Amino acid sequence: MSTTNVPAGASSTSKNKMPPGMVMGPDGKPCKICTAFRNWRPGTTSGIEGNERGRAGGGGHRSAAAMMAALASGTASEKTNAVARIDGPPPNCPPDVEQLGRATWTFLHTTAAYYPERPSPTQRANMLMLLRSLPVLYPCTNCADDFGEDMKTHPPDVSGRVGLSRWLCERHNEVNEKLGKERFDCAKTDERWKDGPEDGRCD
Ligand SMILES: Cc1cc2nc3c(=O)[nH]c(=O)nc-3n(C[C@H](O)[C@H](O)[C@H](O)COP(=O)(O)OP(=O)(O)OC[C@H]3O[C@@H](n4cnc5c(N)ncnc54)[C@H](O)[C@@H]3O)c2cc1C
Repeated sequence: MSTTNVPAGASSTSKNKMPPGMVMGPDGKPCKICTAFRNWRPGTTSGIEGNERGRAGGGGHRSAAAMMAALASGTASEKTNAVARIDGPPPNCPPDVEQLGRATWTFLHTTAAYYPERPSPTQRANMLMLLRSLPVLYPCTNCADDFGEDMKTHPPDVSGRVGLSRWLCERHNEVNEKLGKERFDCAKTDERWKDGPEDGRCD
């Protein structure tokens, strides 16, 4: 899937009055699914509660109050996440690059967390197919291309649950770094995606 476009997450530099942050697709046209909603419709303000309901990445039960609390007193990472979620698409609208990303990471990390310790040859082969399909099929073409390049230098580790979770965490961190986000502590993938924190707040 070759592209000549601006990397997702980077600003368009074309002079034809594209909103900053608009990402171009392989056809040279603005790519909606490669772009954050706030960059597609700059100046759009939509209800916090509505966007929480519309969030695809899980945790949709979190209230607007919780997000405001995160903005007021959360860590830098919590503030970044809260801000990112306030200006996503309204409920029942197609996802933007961020909603799609959160939903996909949720699926991939959770699948890795429940992958067998000792997978059968069939399970390994299917996991490899799933991962190798992403650079071909993932609808954000820039994301897909970069992920494919990363997979060339870091082939998937499908040997077992621990290796796969670590490999995926590192790939996700590559994307985090590209987007200027904090790296995630890969020792905490089970806590985040399977067991929940020890204080029991997710039980
Ligand atoms: C394969 C792929 C490639 C992508 N490429 C791009 C791109 O090129 N440009 C672009 O704009 N967007 C891209 N995205 C989307 C981007 O990664 C984010 O999903 C999106 O920006 C929303 O980010 P977020 O801060 O809400 O949390 P996300 O990055 O979606 O993370 C969701 C949750 O996962 C947890 N988490 C974070 N990092 C890790 C980690 N390393 N390991 C385990 N758990 C973690 C955190 O709890 C976080 O809240 C891509 C998504 C995917 C699936």
